[in-house]
Amino acid sequence: MKTIGVIGGMSAESTAIYYRELNRLVRERLGGLHSAELLIRSVDFAPIAELQAADRWDETGAILADAARKLEAAGADVILLATNTMHLNAEAIRGAIGVPFLHIGDATAAALKAWGVRRPLLLATRFTMEKAFYKDRLAAAGLDPLVPDQADRDRLQAIIYDELCQGVVRPQSTAAGLEMVARGRSAGVDGVIFGCTEVGLLLSPDQIDVPVVDTTLVHCEAAVNFALA
Ligand code: GLU
Repeated sequence: MKTIGVIGGMSAESTAIYYRELNRLVRERLGGLHSAELLIRSVDFAPIAELQAADRWDETGAILADAARKLEAAGADVILLATNTMHLNAEAIRGAIGVPFLHIGDATAAALKAWGVRRPLLLATRFTMEKAFYKDRLAAAGLDPLVPDQADRDRLQAIIYDELCQGVVRPQSTAAGLEMVARGRSAGVDGVIFGCTEVGLLLSPDQIDVPVVDTTLVHCEAAVNFALA
């Protein structure tokens, strides 16, 4: 089994899901007492979030490239970045390491296509919903993502940073998320992307009548496929 290196902490709430899922998937595939060979480099999210808000992405890229380099030096055979948003720095990370980097957007696009989805609703941070890096990657895979309107994007950004990333899940926020999905359905979406690694804490695929891809889960699956290949 290969060793998976995870750059985590963005937030720690979703890195905990990565830890649980990677181990669960390895146990499911290999049985018994098997668990994942894992290294996690978990950062302090507060300074990263300040740099995001100030649009200082070169600096976040340098921090994450350094984390990736350290994971490789410690023995990681593959690197995962446990956040969609910070894939804005994917090239900085890739350029710093010699081992493969599994892009969360590629795992997401492959899962959507396997479901036959073409026009998914992207629920994510405002950076992921508004900047080109993520939507372009989905478009390059033949998908046509839709993002919520400005008011919903602002609401979702607040739910992610002020609640989910701090371990708080409020029923009224779940209701707000489901209203965003309903508006997306009226606008013609045929699938939903939980495009932030904490959205699975807020919403569940059973509440939604079209295929849902939870980026955290498909990213973990891609990593376990790689580790056990
Ligand atoms: N975990 C989130 C994501 O998947 C948001 C936090 C961050 O900005 O990294 O985008």
